[in-house]
Order: sequence, then C-alpha cells, then structure tokens
Amino acid sequence: MKQKPVNSSRIPIYRDAGFELYDADITKDAFLKETENERVPELYIYSRYRNPTVVAAEEEIMSLEGCRWALLTQSGMSAIDTALSVFHEGKETKPWLFFSEIYGGTISYIDSVLKRRRGLNVQIFEPDHEKYDLGRLEMTLDTLRPGVVYVEAISNPMLIVTDLAEVIRISHSAGAKVIVDNTFSTPVLCRPLELGADIVIHSATKYFSGHGNISAGVICGNDSGWMKSCIEYRKFVGHMISPDDAYRLNTQLKTFSLRFNRQCSNASRLADLLKKTDSVRKVWYPGMADHPTHTEALKLFGDKGWGGMITLDFAGETREEKKKRRDDFIRRVSDKILIIPTLGDPCTIIMPVESVWGAKYPEPGMIRLSVGFENYGEIEAIIISGLS
Ligand code: PLP
Repeated sequence: MKQKPVNSSRIPIYRDAGFELYDADITKDAFLKETENERVPELYIYSRYRNPTVVAAEEEIMSLEGCRWALLTQSGMSAIDTALSVFHEGKETKPWLFFSEIYGGTISYIDSVLKRRRGLNVQIFEPDHEKYDLGRLEMTLDTLRPGVVYVEAISNPMLIVTDLAEVIRISHSAGAKVIVDNTFSTPVLCRPLELGADIVIHSATKYFSGHGNISAGVICGNDSGWMKSCIEYRKFVGHMISPDDAYRLNTQLKTFSLRFNRQCSNASRLADLLKKTDSVRKVWYPGMADHPTHTEALKLFGDKGWGGMITLDFAGETREEKKKRRDDFIRRVSDKILIIPTLGDPCTIIMPVESVWGAKYPEPGMIRLSVGFENYGEIEAIIISGLS
C-alpha cells in the first residue's frame, strides 16, 4: 500500500529520477507543457527536466531577484553557458560584446567554447583607468551593433562598478540583448532585471549558498520565450542541479540577506580600518570616495551597501618588500584566514592577486579579501594581528 506524504512544512528532497504519470492523458499533457514551468504536481516528468525540490529553491530566488522565472543549474558556469547559448541561434552573424573585467572562467569559456568551438565573433570592451567609459561604449555599440552585451555589476579583483542602467539603455538602443552576472552585487545591492536587463545569472556557489559547500548557478529572467529556451537547453545538456543541492541551497537562502548585509557592513568597516593602516598602500572598495567607480556605486546601490569584497595593496619601496609584507600577513593570519579560491564564505578568506591574476595585476603586494559574516570585532582583531 502506498504511504501518504507526511505534513512537512517544507518541500522535501525528491530524489526520483522520473515521476509517476497517472494515466495516458496526464502523460500527454505533461510532455506538452514540459517547458512551461507549471507548478502542477502531476506534471513533473523527469528530474533532469524539472524537479519539485529544485522548483522550491527557484521560487526563493525569484522573490529575491524580483523576476518571473529562475532556473537552477549545477554551477555558475552552466548558468552562463545556458544564458549565452539560448541567444546563439544557428548562423550567428552579429558580434557579441563582453566587458573585459569579468570572471576569468568566463573569459576562458569565451576563448575555448564561443570562439574556438562555436566560431563566434567576440569583441571585448576594456575600461580606462579602472572605469568604463560609457561614451566610448556607445560609439563601440554603434559601430559593432552586437547581438549580446555581457557585463558584471561589480568586477573582480578591482571591484569596478558598472552603471548598469546606462549600459542597458545604450545596448538596447543598439539592438543588443544584455546579460548581467550579478554574483558579486547580489539582489541586495541591485536587481538588474528591474533596470531592463534581459537575463541575470549568478554563481549561487557564492553568496546565495554562502557556506562554501554547494556548487550551483541560476539564470533569472522575465521573458517566457527565453525561459522555455533555457529549460530546453538545461535539459538537453544536462545542466540541472541535483535535488539534494537544491534543498540545501533553499535552506541556506533563508539567511542570505541577513548574511550578505552583515558581510557588507563588516567589509565597509574593515576597508576604513585598512585605509588608515601605514603598511597598506591602497585599498579598493566601492564604498570609498576615492574608488574610481564610487559614483557608479552610489547610483547603482544607493544606501544599500557596497559589497563584501575588498582588494588592497601592501606598501613597500620595492617588489620584494611588498611581497614580504603580503607573505608576512598571510603567514600571521593563516590559522584563521585561509587562502581559498572562492568568495562569499561564512569566514573571511583571501586570495593573493598576483598568484592568480598576475598577467593583468602583477603587483606582488595585492590581496583580495572576501569578508565573512563573523562578529566584526573578531575579524578586526585577526586583521590587526596580521598587520603588526
Ligand atoms: N561568475 C562569477 C562572478 C564568479 O566569480 C564565478 C566563479 O568564481 C562564476 C561566475 C562561476 O561560478 P561557478 O564556480 O559556480 O561555476
């Protein structure tokens, strides 16, 4: 005899590969409505297509991003692949324009997949003096007439903030669709779809999951045609997140805003402290008046915060001296602050910039901090111990 479901207060982990379709008519209906994302329990077919545990987490993200649909994938990269692939219709003749200051993995994906394997014409838009010149962007768009423009709201590791409203406006005028990677800024700071972006993606591995224990991505949008294309693509290439990861992500999403707000306030206080430190030559934090894109940050974020990332450069007369300061710092804090190549974790973590992004940022004194949501006093004490 079939057991009845228990009255759980949350959607449980449905690990079924395929769901029971009660009769031939329901089976037909389910297959016909496969890409419509209907919430009807009888219409679930197969977990690689759609899964109720995954849908529950997607609904949570829809309310955070304020959008009509959100689709979870097994990584940020698979969200990027899905978002870009639905705009690639057969013989693409228009170029695609990518802002240069985007995640290194996305740059490698452009080279290896979009250019080398798919033969797309990809153009890169570079900043001038750590800031994007939107007048020059407008001219570039006029000349190129790209099909897609791809940008991150806050870049890595220099934390360049983009005037998204303006980028979206001028890209649309030139006939391009706009995809925004909102991983660093999160919907707490800005909701690009409300500014007119066509698609938003996230590495949910970062702030959404927030505990460094899930690999996930999400594509968000409002247009139902693209939703159908994304559902279809996710299904064909098998980018679907597992129900177990979706369940844990959903649980962790409940504290997302709380965590991220704390990370922003901790980072803001820490940036002020570092700025006053003699052994630190320079601090990059969008909340600081001397950050090259502070004006853009003010416009985009208002008074909501400035993000949880800080980049700094240790002082020193020579490269050796700077490197020594960096290495001394890393060694002194190494019990408490680890070098981990991710961001958005509960505890403050660091990345030596030159070791990873040395081709572009060769300064040996630079480190990137992903500030955690510890009690501020704890982080301050650790950082001070590292600086002395
Ligand atoms: N977008 C940004 C801004 C990232 O920092 C990353 C990863 O670091 C990604 C996308 C890719 O996400 P994932 O590692 O979850 O595939």
